[in-house]
Amino acid sequence: MDTVTTRHQVVILGAGPAGLTLARMLSLQNVDAIVVETRTEDYVRERVRAGVIEQSTVDVLTELGVADRLHREALRHDGFYLRLDEQTHHLDFHALTGRNAFVYGQAEIVADLIDARRGDGAPMVFGASDVAVTGVDSATPVVEYTQAGRRHRVQADFIAGCDGSHGITPTLMPADTQVMTRTHPFAWLGILARTAPTTAEGMYCAHPDGLSVHSMRGTQITRQYLQVPADTTLDDWPDERIWSELRRRSRSSDHPELETGEIFDRSLAPLRSVVTTPMQFGSLFLLGDAAHIVPPTGAKGLNLAISDACVLSHALGHYYGHRDRTHLESYGETALPRIWQAQLFSWTLTTTLHRFDDNPYSWELRRARMRRWIDSEAEQRALGEVYLGLPFPTPWRPE
Ligand SMILES: Cc1cc2nc3c(=O)[nH]c(=O)nc-3n(C[C@H](O)[C@H](O)[C@H](O)COP(=O)(O)OP(=O)(O)OC[C@H]3O[C@@H](n4cnc5c(N)ncnc54)[C@H](O)[C@@H]3O)c2cc1C
Repeated sequence: MDTVTTRHQVVILGAGPAGLTLARMLSLQNVDAIVVETRTEDYVRERVRAGVIEQSTVDVLTELGVADRLHREALRHDGFYLRLDEQTHHLDFHALTGRNAFVYGQAEIVADLIDARRGDGAPMVFGASDVAVTGVDSATPVVEYTQAGRRHRVQADFIAGCDGSHGITPTLMPADTQVMTRTHPFAWLGILARTAPTTAEGMYCAHPDGLSVHSMRGTQITRQYLQVPADTTLDDWPDERIWSELRRRSRSSDHPELETGEIFDRSLAPLRSVVTTPMQFGSLFLLGDAAHIVPPTGAKGLNLAISDACVLSHALGHYYGHRDRTHLESYGETALPRIWQAQLFSWTLTTTLHRFDDNPYSWELRRARMRRWIDSEAEQRALGEVYLGLPFPTPWRPE
């Protein structure tokens, strides 16, 4: 097979939120990058995942010129609802912080970023196979892949590992890299359904038998989740069982019963917490899910991926603008404090809202914590500051 050799300053592996956002940031700084993705473009554009995004993320996407559709179509939320003991409470974080959260699907953000990149005429490869990376411990790393029957060899200065938790770049880190992991003993069964949302904003329903989460993707489509055992399969969950369990766990005395409708997408997501440190090795930098994972409970994963892209884009801007490596060398140290705040937030929400055992003591402790969230303004403000997004560690390009 022919091999075509090319050179780019940066190779970005993965066309998820981390990779495509970094690509846009570098493009606007005239840094020459190529995006290499193993999946097809259609698959990437349609993958259903995140939906709740922070104000800080929206602000960056706006600066990057990729948020026109988001501003037209996203739902703006002030906080979320918490249902406890069949009573519904609104936690109004906007009133306490002046900020908002936005509901706009991850697939839409990805599509907007792909369209912008295509508009720039910048290189982007989908459907790459047999991706191999060598020389990350040197200043001349190489990425090879096959596409449309040709082998490609790309020489670069840096590799951005944006290939998610199952990608290859996390496996290229040295043996003494610390990968701190906590696996939760349950999963989330997620559905998309044609029904109107029960509440105007997302809602967590805490129930002694387990959590249910009610979110939306517009006025007629809902995204709902059920806490389920980690070893369950989708075959265990016919539609009637999903609706009956969602209804049971979300029953209230102050709202009508949950509407049911056609379920047109369903998936299972394990709940894991992971932090990799350091986040860089030689010319390789890990971003987003390739470096850390939070359970979806706190809606933080995509937001962290974009925050990492800011930190690396800022550092690469310094490097290519001034040949200054300082920010590259401190990439992980700069990104990690915000990552740990998101880990703590997701951990707090996960351990408070989910059922871990059938000990009544555990349920009463969790109830007591939720009552503080409902009754104390100080608790609500602290929760809201992180839910709506702590400031990003750096701007996306040098000031
Ligand atoms: C059910 C669920 C709900 C969620 N809800 C939220 C939410 O509301 N808010 C939020 O902020 N986050 C949420 N998240 C988390 C969010 O979806 C992820 O954190 C986010 O996708 C991470 O982006 P990423 O770009 O780092 O990785 P990914 O989105 O995983 O992208 C990685 C890309 O790399 C590609 N790839 C893999 N291997 C290779 C390779 N060898 N070479 C090249 N490319 C490769 C993959 O195909 C993929 O396209 C949710 C997650 C789940 C599962």
